[in-house]
Amino acid sequence: MPRPIVASISISALQHNLAVARAHAPNARAWGVVKANAYGHGLERAMRGFAAADGLALIEVDYAVRLRELGWTKPILLLEGFFDAADLPLLAAHDIQFAVHCEEQIALLEGFETKAGLHAHLKMNSGMNRLGFKPEAYRAAFERLGRIASIRSVTMMTHFANADDAGNPGLALEEQVKRFNAGTAGLDAPRSLCNSAGDLLHAELAFDWVRPGIMLYGGTPGGGSAADFGLRPAMTLESEIIGVQDIAPGEAVGYGSRFVADKPMKVGVVACGYADGYPRHAPNGTPVVVDGVKTGTVGRVSMDMLAVDLTHIPGARVGSRVLLWGEGLPVDEVAFAAGTIGYELMCALAPRVAVREVA
Ligand SMILES: *Cc1c(COP(=O)(O)O)cnc(C)c1O
Repeated sequence: MPRPIVASISISALQHNLAVARAHAPNARAWGVVKANAYGHGLERAMRGFAAADGLALIEVDYAVRLRELGWTKPILLLEGFFDAADLPLLAAHDIQFAVHCEEQIALLEGFETKAGLHAHLKMNSGMNRLGFKPEAYRAAFERLGRIASIRSVTMMTHFANADDAGNPGLALEEQVKRFNAGTAGLDAPRSLCNSAGDLLHAELAFDWVRPGIMLYGGTPGGGSAADFGLRPAMTLESEIIGVQDIAPGEAVGYGSRFVADKPMKVGVVACGYADGYPRHAPNGTPVVVDGVKTGTVGRVSMDMLAVDLTHIPGARVGSRVLLWGEGLPVDEVAFAAGTIGYELMCALAPRVAVREVA
C-alpha cells in the first residue's frame, strides 16, 4: 500500500488559467513560466497544459533542453540567461532564448561563434536591484549586443517588485516604469514587463510579451484572491487520517508539546509532513479540511505526519479524506497562516508525493 498522500494536477485548470492570463493581455504574447518544475506541477504536464502559450520560460538550462526533447517546438526562454560559457552551444543547438543581465554574459556572447541565430532578452534593473543593467547603462548594453553577429533579436525586459502593490513606498510601480521608459527611450525593440501581478492588475503595461507564472497554477500573485481573479487551483494535495487519539485536558500533541488540550479532544493524525512539502512553520490552527469540514492543525508538523483537531467532526476516523490545499481550500489561505506564500508551498511539493493527473 502506498502512503495515502496524493497531489492531483488538473490539466484543464492550467489551460483555463492560461486563458485568463491571455484575456487580461489580449495584445501580448504569453510566456508560460515553468521554472522550478512548473512550480511543483511537473514540467511535462505543464508543457501539455500550456500548449496554447506562445513560449515557455524557466530558469534551469537542463529543463530547457528537456522541453525540446519532450517535443516543445515554440520559443523557450531562460529568465536568468546562461550561467557558463559551456551552456552556449546547448542554447544554440536547441534554439533556446535567454536573458542577458550583466556584462560578463555579453563578453561570453562576444567570444562565442555560432551559425545559429540567437535571441536575447536584455534585462534592465529598474529598481528591484536583483539582475539587470541600470537604466543609464542600458543603451550601451543594447548596442553592444546588437553588434554581435549571432544575435538576431533583442527584447527589452524588466521585472517589477510591486506590481501587486503599486504604491509601495519602497519602490512605486510607476517609478520602475519611468526608469524603464527613460533607459529604453528611442530603442526600437519588443518589451516584456509583466509577471502575473502585472498581467492581472496592469493591462496597460502588457506590451509585446507577458510572463505569467503563479496565476497559471491558480495561486494569487497578491492584490486579490485567486478566486477573485477567476483562477482555478491546478494542484490539490490530499491525504488521509491514519490514526486517531482521544486526549484529556492537559495532554499535549507532537514534538515540543507545542499544543496542549484545554478540553477533551479528538485528534487525527494525517499522513503528511514537512518531508512532503507541508510547511513545518504552520502554527496551531492552520486550515485543513477533513471529510469536507474545515478544521485546523494542532502541534508541530513532523517529517511524515501532522495532527488535526477532529473534536467537532464526530464522523472522522481512520481513512477519512484530508484536504491540505487546492480545490476547496486555497493554497494561499494555508500559506498565509504559515507566514509564507502559495508559491513556496507549491514549489516545495516533495518528489515522494504521488502525483495523479486529472482532467
Ligand atoms: C518567476 C518569474 C516570473 C513569473 O512570476 P509570477 O509572479 O509567478 O507570475 C516572471 N518573470 C520573471 C523574470 C520571473 O523570474
